[in-house]
Amino acid sequence: MRTVYVNGEFVPEAEAKVSVFDRGFLFADGVYEVTSVLGGKLIDFEGHAVRLERSLRELGMAMPMSRDDLLAIHRRLVAENGIEDGLVYLQVTRGAADRDFAYPDPSTPLTVVLFTQAKPGLADAPKARTGMSVVSIPDRRWGRRDIKTVQLLYPSMGKMEAKARGADDAWMVEDGHVTEGTSNNAYIVKGDTLVTRHLGEEILHGITRAAVLKVAAEQGLTVEERPFTLEEALAADEAFVTSASTFVMPVVEIDGASIGGGQVGPVARRLREAYLEESRKAAV
Ligand code: PMP
Repeated sequence: MRTVYVNGEFVPEAEAKVSVFDRGFLFADGVYEVTSVLGGKLIDFEGHAVRLERSLRELGMAMPMSRDDLLAIHRRLVAENGIEDGLVYLQVTRGAADRDFAYPDPSTPLTVVLFTQAKPGLADAPKARTGMSVVSIPDRRWGRRDIKTVQLLYPSMGKMEAKARGADDAWMVEDGHVTEGTSNNAYIVKGDTLVTRHLGEEILHGITRAAVLKVAAEQGLTVEERPFTLEEALAADEAFVTSASTFVMPVVEIDGASIGGGQVGPVARRLREAYLEESRKAAV
């Protein structure tokens, strides 16, 4: 049985409890982070901690502990649960209070939960070799997608629609342009140019995105941060997505049409290798 962290305590998962009045449960009033673990070490912990602080600030919540304490909790869970490859999931909500749309008194303790998921061979996913398929769906999420909130119902629906249509995932489209994948940032490659949507309130500011754009520049690619259309994606040489748990994942089919001949292309392959190498070196 896993050990999980709940509000200051490390407990067996079966004994972990959160109130039915928790605002995360009642209002999706909470934020989260997912940090991957490779070789027992955390990938880009700092980036996730910085984004957590930003998400909390945007919602008027305080960081519940120091970055060092947060790192110590991550490390203890990884060690106690014997995680070699996997994830640490972290969630902070505005805490438990009598149900009311207005926020409770700021002295209400935030709820802090962390747990691990073992994913043996996380960096060796078969889809990284064959590429995955996506379908396009309208982006019907709320307008502050730069805040990493736990209101993930629409992305869940998108994933289910993708499955029902025989695909692996969905790319969301708004005003004729791709915003991002249901749980990842989206990219296309044409020649030596990499295109991905610019940062703003319309997408999550991916931690993997920032690292991969740096690697892309090091590899001499021209990076264009701007919106792109589905038509442009369909005419691209390559496509891929990035996220903390999939790293760089090639996309070889969009709405049933092959991209790059349906094969994983050299740019996505090189970016994945270089990203993984650099991330493992910098892991804590
Ligand atoms: N966009 C969305 C909507 C996501 O849910 C995620 C993953 N949580 C990402 C992008 C990728 O972000 P990261 O690289 O920080 O995992």
